[in-house]
Amino acid sequence: MFFPWDEIDWVMLDMDGTLLDKHFDDYFWETLVPQEYARRHNLELEAARQEVFARYQREEGTLNWTDIDFWSRELDLDIPALKEGIRHLIEVHPDSELFLRYVRGLRKKVILVTNAHYKTLDLKMNQVGLLGYFDQVISSFDLGAPKEHRQFWEALEARLGFAPQRTLLVDDNREVLQAARDYGIRYLFFKGISSSQAPAETSRRFPVLHYFTELMPAEAQAGPGRTAEDVLAEI
Ligand SMILES: [Mg+2]
Repeated sequence: MFFPWDEIDWVMLDMDGTLLDKHFDDYFWETLVPQEYARRHNLELEAARQEVFARYQREEGTLNWTDIDFWSRELDLDIPALKEGIRHLIEVHPDSELFLRYVRGLRKKVILVTNAHYKTLDLKMNQVGLLGYFDQVISSFDLGAPKEHRQFWEALEARLGFAPQRTLLVDDNREVLQAARDYGIRYLFFKGISSSQAPAETSRRFPVLHYFTELMPAEAQAGPGRTAEDVLAEI
């Protein structure tokens, strides 16, 4: 695929599942939290899972969903401490850093746009060391609405003055992409591989990106006899 980079000034990237391996979050929320909840409240694991999952479902698509202080109160668990305890499991997708270097080399404005809470954002970015690649890091908590809502994009434009028609957004959340499309963001990709431990997903409404390298010309990619480190050294 040749991508019209000339038509892009702004590159907006989601964090969890897009740049980072979502396996960490899936393991955390689907396995570790129910286990800890069962222990804390003296429940069978299956009963704890059902209760916790029902609570998750009620908050999907809201700021509470990613508010770890909310979940600490709601579940009576120290969620930040639990996350901290497995921080070594936080992983970057293999081609994320290569892509970030590539778009910086093209002199695009590179923005991290995430629904993650500040505490999660700090923990993850400190762990993976990608912060230096971004011109700005925006959490939904800064703007008062999650990315699924138009209000997020309005507040983002007011803050950054970006041009939606000259913006690329990559995200692994279809509702977020739809809100961005409704707002007028022109170049949208659904990140089909969000977790290293789950099958690739597809989308009928949005073009699917499995690897960031699909947006890079062949000469900027690693290949036989040319490792990602070789490419990075040249960019
Ligand atoms: Mg995501």
